[in-house]
Amino acid sequence: MKVIKFGGSSLADAKQIKKVCSIVLSDRQRRIVVVSAPGKRDGNDTKVTDLLISLAQTCRDNGDVDAALDAVVERYSSIAKDLHLGKEIVNTIKNDLKGRISKQTDNYNMFEDLLKASGEDNSAKLVACYLQSIGENAEYVDPKEAGMILSNEFGNAQVLPHSYELLAKLAERDTIMIFPGFFGYSEDGDVVTFSRGGSDVTGGILAAAVNADVYENFTDVDFVYAANPKLIENPFPIPLFTYEEMRELSYAGFSVLHEEALAPVYKKGIPVNIRNTNNPDAPGTFIVPDKTAPKPTLPVAGIAADTGFMTIHVYKYMMNRLIGYGRKLLSVLEEEGISFEHMPSGIDSISLIIREKNCPPEKLDRIVKKYKEELAADSVSVDKDQAIVMLVGRGMTKNVGVSTRATAAFAKANINIRMINQGSSEVSIMFGVEAKDAKPSVIALYNEFFN
Ligand code: ASP
Repeated sequence: MKVIKFGGSSLADAKQIKKVCSIVLSDRQRRIVVVSAPGKRDGNDTKVTDLLISLAQTCRDNGDVDAALDAVVERYSSIAKDLHLGKEIVNTIKNDLKGRISKQTDNYNMFEDLLKASGEDNSAKLVACYLQSIGENAEYVDPKEAGMILSNEFGNAQVLPHSYELLAKLAERDTIMIFPGFFGYSEDGDVVTFSRGGSDVTGGILAAAVNADVYENFTDVDFVYAANPKLIENPFPIPLFTYEEMRELSYAGFSVLHEEALAPVYKKGIPVNIRNTNNPDAPGTFIVPDKTAPKPTLPVAGIAADTGFMTIHVYKYMMNRLIGYGRKLLSVLEEEGISFEHMPSGIDSISLIIREKNCPPEKLDRIVKKYKEELAADSVSVDKDQAIVMLVGRGMTKNVGVSTRATAAFAKANINIRMINQGSSEVSIMFGVEAKDAKPSVIALYNEFFN
């Protein structure tokens, strides 16, 4: 059995949906189909999810709700018309949206999730309706009934472990199941979504739950490339990554796959195949467990950079002799509910790299105060607007000279490296730079390792 997921650009209009259905029908093992909400039809278009966020905001701000609602319904009705589906499905979608709007509550995040989730939910209903109209044994699957149970973190949910057992029962059905991505239900029965791009996560969870042979993730590129094609012209295509390599790269800004999509399949060793809806004959890129991956031919598999980080530098003379000092530093972050990303250290100093969006100013002030007063740090300073640049590849393991080449590339491009961090697995090296240097860093490293 294969689980197959299609991103928003594959559902953007009737022509794309027909491509999706012909891909699904060309292989009878493709039984669970996860769909995103309709995405952009062209560069100037707006994704349905973004239209739904505007609709939620319009409701909150007492704006022109009818106009915002029409903008959403119009996307579905034009698809339904071009697929010759008749009025009924459009009425179902319109009534569904009105029903959701009528449930507006004071909890805006909860309300926004309810509206956002309708993007994929109605997309799945539409695709199932089309497949039925051409005589296929397809059904829309309701995530609530199927058991997609998530934590109640609106806009940032995580799957709850007992969900897998419930979802495993899908394997017993004999239909083509069209499953909406991006959302599930909390234990209280509220609609909750993953973070943006989360339909990838739905696909990963379903693939793990039914023990799929492969998780096929269809998007709009033939391969995953060694670097962002927006920065590098014709970047090197990479036919195979390991989970670990891909995890590092998607964490640092590779947008091709959601950062959390691999966690469920990783445990079961299910391969992921990234493919192109517009060129389904291309084999795409495989993401596989380390133990089944052939020996890499290149030291570096990918280069990524992400901005939006800050660093808290803590200096305390003789820190290395103080037992428990590191634990105390991290407990302060725990008390504030903040996770750290990296922690380069020296004998008397530790730098904590944190995502800026996770640390609002009031929390930062409290953290700095506690480090100075409770932990008696000699100095605490904060650098904002930082970026991390990741050089990733299994081929770097036990390979002499990779970091020399990398640091020489930074020097040649006149970029100052603020921090370097390399784990003992040697699969990646993290460089901390100023945010303005993020793109030039990727270009400099790409030229060194791929040109
Ligand atoms: N439609 C949602 C988004 O735009 C989820 C997804 O496409 O995966 O973020």
